[in-house]
Amino acid sequence: FRVPVIDNEPMRAYAAGSSDRAGLEAAVKKMISQAPFEIPCIVDGKPVKTGDIQSQPMPHDHANNLCTYHAATPEIVKNAIESSLRAKSQWEEMPWADRAAIFLKAADLIAGKYRFEIMAATMLGQGKNAWQAEIDAAAELVDFFRFSVKYVEELYAQQPPRNSAGTWNRTEFRPLEGFVLAVTPFNFTAIGGNLVGAPVIVGNVCVWKPSPMATYSNFLIHKILLEAGLPPSVIQFVPGNPPEIVQQCIDHPKFAGLHFTGSTQVFRSLWKKIANNLDVYKGYPRVVGETGGKNFHLYHPSADIQSGVVQAIRSAFEYSGQKCSALSRVYVPRSMWENGFRDQLKSQVDSITIGPCTAFNHFTGPVIGRPAFDKISGIITKAKEAGGEVLAGGTWDDSKGFFIQPTVIVTKDPKSVTMTEEIFGPVMTVYVYEDAEYEQTCELIDTTTDYALTGAIFGVDRAALQRAAHLLRNSAGNFYINDKCTGAVVGQQPFGGARASGTNDKSGSISIFYRFISARSIKENF
Ligand code: GLU
Repeated sequence: FRVPVIDNEPMRAYAAGSSDRAGLEAAVKKMISQAPFEIPCIVDGKPVKTGDIQSQPMPHDHANNLCTYHAATPEIVKNAIESSLRAKSQWEEMPWADRAAIFLKAADLIAGKYRFEIMAATMLGQGKNAWQAEIDAAAELVDFFRFSVKYVEELYAQQPPRNSAGTWNRTEFRPLEGFVLAVTPFNFTAIGGNLVGAPVIVGNVCVWKPSPMATYSNFLIHKILLEAGLPPSVIQFVPGNPPEIVQQCIDHPKFAGLHFTGSTQVFRSLWKKIANNLDVYKGYPRVVGETGGKNFHLYHPSADIQSGVVQAIRSAFEYSGQKCSALSRVYVPRSMWENGFRDQLKSQVDSITIGPCTAFNHFTGPVIGRPAFDKISGIITKAKEAGGEVLAGGTWDDSKGFFIQPTVIVTKDPKSVTMTEEIFGPVMTVYVYEDAEYEQTCELIDTTTDYALTGAIFGVDRAALQRAAHLLRNSAGNFYINDKCTGAVVGQQPFGGARASGTNDKSGSISIFYRFISARSIKENF
């Protein structure tokens, strides 16, 4: 058989007065009226209430919870692991067409029946506006599931090209021996789906530890996968206290792989723990992670000012700068800065509207929660104290939601705190370089941090672009020329960072699936 033709899910505009806008607004209203939802753990396909109740507040209205959830206990985690291992042989022996059909059906359910519900969960629980929720919980999530089917189909077709007389050589792509642990982030609902989906579609079973701040949208993904026909025990849903659940999984002798998106610091500590446990396991667990970033835009003097400013604003401030890929450090030549970049940037950032995601007319919403709010506002204060000029923003208000005004800092010190530390919030720092120092600026960008997630260069001078692309060849796993550094599309720009930003196993491409299979080469003589 051949899988259907796969293409990107078309994005919807949610224009005022459209039926999509009305449908989404109704879903948001309904969800608010029904919240808080009570979310159990799902073990063996069955809801389990542990009584250890925690909550997921709404970032734009933190007095109210989107859901409460039953945090997994050690007993539950143990049951989840054992149940997944019992489900393993049935799942890996299921014919590929049936596994593929489950993911294609789940994608259709998300694109259609559940689109507005899962978007509403992402808006209310993770603070996205409608369009950011559409990019994530509708389009990207659907793309991940559909393109997985296409890529795995291609992977399974990778067979040895030669047979000598009387033999048949073939390769079998088996899942890993054991279970995969998925530790998933708050900032993309789609990433939660993909971190479980990628290992599972190639036949693995999975224990899913969602981010506490994305519990509800992630629960919906799990529910939709079950509705699409996923056997109940293939993915175990265990929300709760991250370090304990993760440690317990990693200490299990059948732990076979980690699929992670989150902070560099946590990923490094997990990797060390896994390394320390090597004697516990039969094999070498696969460790796959996407971590922090300190993403840059570099403008060459030949770049267009107007579009350059717009791209910087979009990549720094959409979703309040909480994409791993978000722009954080900006390098502008003095000529451009003085000839309009500064003024346009200031006036446009000053006019950004900020407010609850439910209002449908704000560019920026809240940051995710109290710790993020305190960290980001603290960093802005430190930057001011260290002599950074606040060109725009620099204020915050947490009376109802966690709102931080999009902030532009101009620094004379290219190694200042906001040029080096990952912030994960709506803060952009600009360093103005002398036009003649373009190449030195490339070197500065490359050496300022160990992160290498995303970056972009702007200009029309082809030689200059080519020079920067070379000098910055290790500085970003995703590199853009004349486009902003956020917004990778599944099937178009495989996504993942180099250096301290991750293992660079690109999501949204065939490469990720190789990490979750263990190939067997078979030679048969006739
Ligand atoms: N893929 C997203 C983008 O390119 C970012 C994913 C992330 O935040 O981890 O903007």
